[in-house]
Amino acid sequence: MDRSWEHRSACKGIDPVIFYPATDEDAETAKAVCAVCPVQVDCLEYAIANREHEGIWGGHTEKERQRIIRRRRRERAMKKAAQVNSSSVTAVADSASGDQPGVLSATATR
Ligand code: SF4
Repeated sequence: MDRSWEHRSACKGIDPVIFYPATDEDAETAKAVCAVCPVQVDCLEYAIANREHEGIWGGHTEKERQRIIRRRRRERAMKKAAQVNSSSVTAVADSASGDQPGVLSATATR
């Protein structure tokens, strides 16, 4: 995956240790750096796409990245369900209007 964004990062030259805090509560220093980073979104998306399990990426802890992944999964599932429901409604509407070939031919034979 493309990491060309790294050369513009706000953490360039900063001790990487701050991005691997012992607890999430100790992540504030790293998050403060990320908050002004011009490549925060690229960094976060890289970490999510590559399932980075350690450290602060894009201003988010591992737990926060997991929450984003779960939310996106739910949103995709809801979107897919909405598309299926929409297709079902269209099929029912077509059937009710007689647009289905089977319905038309059945009507034509009467
Ligand atoms: S978002 Fe944070 S960890 Fe990512 S490149 Fe920027 S400063 Fe570094």
